[in-house]
Amino acid sequence: MDKDIATPVRTRAILEKYGFSFKKSLGQNFLIDTNILKKIVGFANLTEKSGAIEIGPGIGALTEQLARECKKVAAFEIDQRLLPILADTLSPYPNVKIIHQDVLKADVKAVIAQEFTGIEDLMVVANLPYYVTTPIIMKLLEDKLPIRGIVCMLQKEVADRISAKPGTKDYGSLSIAIQYYTAAETVMVVPKTVFVPQPNVDSAVIRLTLRETPAVAVQNEDFFFKVTKAAFAQRRKTLLNNLTSQLPNGKQKKEEIMAALTASGVDPSRRGETLSLEEFASLSDALYPYFQ
Ligand code: SAM
Repeated sequence: MDKDIATPVRTRAILEKYGFSFKKSLGQNFLIDTNILKKIVGFANLTEKSGAIEIGPGIGALTEQLARECKKVAAFEIDQRLLPILADTLSPYPNVKIIHQDVLKADVKAVIAQEFTGIEDLMVVANLPYYVTTPIIMKLLEDKLPIRGIVCMLQKEVADRISAKPGTKDYGSLSIAIQYYTAAETVMVVPKTVFVPQPNVDSAVIRLTLRETPAVAVQNEDFFFKVTKAAFAQRRKTLLNNLTSQLPNGKQKKEEIMAALTASGVDPSRRGETLSLEEFASLSDALYPYFQ
């Protein structure tokens, strides 16, 4: 077996060979710890029949570990300068396909149809670029891809918000948006020392397991997400205050908002952070007829 890409010595040699300079604007913090990479791959529970979609392969540190564990890897990389490097470092792995695209603009469903025919078990596994972690995760979920889940490294602070439970300081519209689609868990906290260059913030790995159906049933998804965003607009305000100031014509519809709160059994003086997904769902359904 080839020497791992993700050792400090080999990584330095690759970077020097190609005169590669990191672009901070692309969130380039590469992993140089093989144990951490193996753990990340382990959290994805892949088999030799699985497929993996990676976002941002960098010089191939994680890609290599994935290629050894599963049938096929497709990796989206935005930085053209990395393409010749990846062609070199990943040459021992014919089951890897690098796609030179911004993942936020990519038609991931089409790529899956093309690259993973006959593969039934698909996971997204990535060390995400930190400047776009939330848009990438939301896009993957909203695109309703045929995947089992997502295992990814991101800022610990964002991981805390994603997996937060009601009643905690980190619980907010991001927790709800992601827990609507998935069961979310923080599976590992990662020190800065395993990256080059070291990021300014702490990191964590989360695992999102897609639900067969969303966590709660609502009449209208867009409106449900609008209500949850409105409820957290100003964290210290009550639900009634946030909803009247944030929903369209909310001030004129104060009576209706009061009626919907009463109908769904939610005290108007509560704060958004105390409501469960179920409570948000019944509130959203009670409000919906007044905002069509
Ligand atoms: N996977 C490598 C590792 O763990 O060492 C690199 C991870 S690094 C944190 C993030 C990678 O994402 C970089 O290679 C960067 O060029 C790439 N990237 C940044 N924005 C991207 C985007 N919008 N679409 C695809 N790749 C992107």
